Amino acid sequence: MAAAATMPRQFIEHLDYHVVDHCNLNCVCCSTYSPIAKERFADISQFGDDLRLLQSAVGENVLRLHLLGGEPLLHPEIEGFLVVAREVFPGARIDVTSNGVLVSKMPDSFWETMRKCDIDLKYTRYPISLDYDAMVEHARERGVFAYSAGDEISCFRRIPLNPRGTSNVHQTYLRCPYIDCPQLREGRLCRCPASAYSDILNDAMVESGHIARFKLNAADCLELHGGLSAQDVFDFLSRPIPFCQYCDMGKVDNAVPWGPSSREIAEWVDL
Ligand code: SF4
Ligand code: SF4
Repeated sequence: MAAAATMPRQFIEHLDYHVVDHCNLNCVCCSTYSPIAKERFADISQFGDDLRLLQSAVGENVLRLHLLGGEPLLHPEIEGFLVVAREVFPGARIDVTSNGVLVSKMPDSFWETMRKCDIDLKYTRYPISLDYDAMVEHARERGVFAYSAGDEISCFRRIPLNPRGTSNVHQTYLRCPYIDCPQLREGRLCRCPASAYSDILNDAMVESGHIARFKLNAADCLELHGGLSAQDVFDFLSRPIPFCQYCDMGKVDNAVPWGPSSREIAEWVDL
């Protein structure tokens, strides 16, 4: 892990884009804070602008693009996102990453766009009353490849955030399981979900009577409008960020049993 964390990169292996922040499931310790997120639908023209700016910096060196959230199928314009994604990255492997709940309700036009744009359906198996095998067959009958992200979820990982920001940035980064999870969000490239979606945490803290404590430093993300080079992007993706001071790797719990979120800020933040 330490070697991988410090090796210079030549491509972006995975890039996440959140089409929505909210979700129709409510999982404890959701790593993207969806249970406490307000309803938010990404803007399709901003999505196109952001992807093009990134593409102009790194060319075709985005190998996989995941359209997710929250639950991406909640976005009424999801088909438009698929078209734009394929247009900007014609050679990338692209998928919609879903919890599966809405898959059987998607209209024919969705499947046609998925097929034409050569986009896969990736799904996570949750212990809910949903026939995932039937869902895979449903997609296959419509000409779309569907595959699972892994075994059925039984537990989640909790990486508590310490709003006092006292962690050693370098040591924390070297222990981080999210060093290869870049996120594209509203004109910026971010290193990881924790930094990218810190606005959700801050909003939830204020709503629950606390002070918003998670500050994004200029070095925590890359502004896409800054005339970036590929080297700028790969250098940024190869080093820790100031935000790592908030992650408390000494208190990681890798076995939080899957279940409903309390929607309390304390689920993510050690207040
Ligand atoms: S399905 Fe669960 S883990 Fe995934 S985004 Fe929704 S609430 Fe979070
Ligand atoms: S802020 Fe740093 S330590 Fe925390 S999840 Fe992101 S990359 Fe990992």
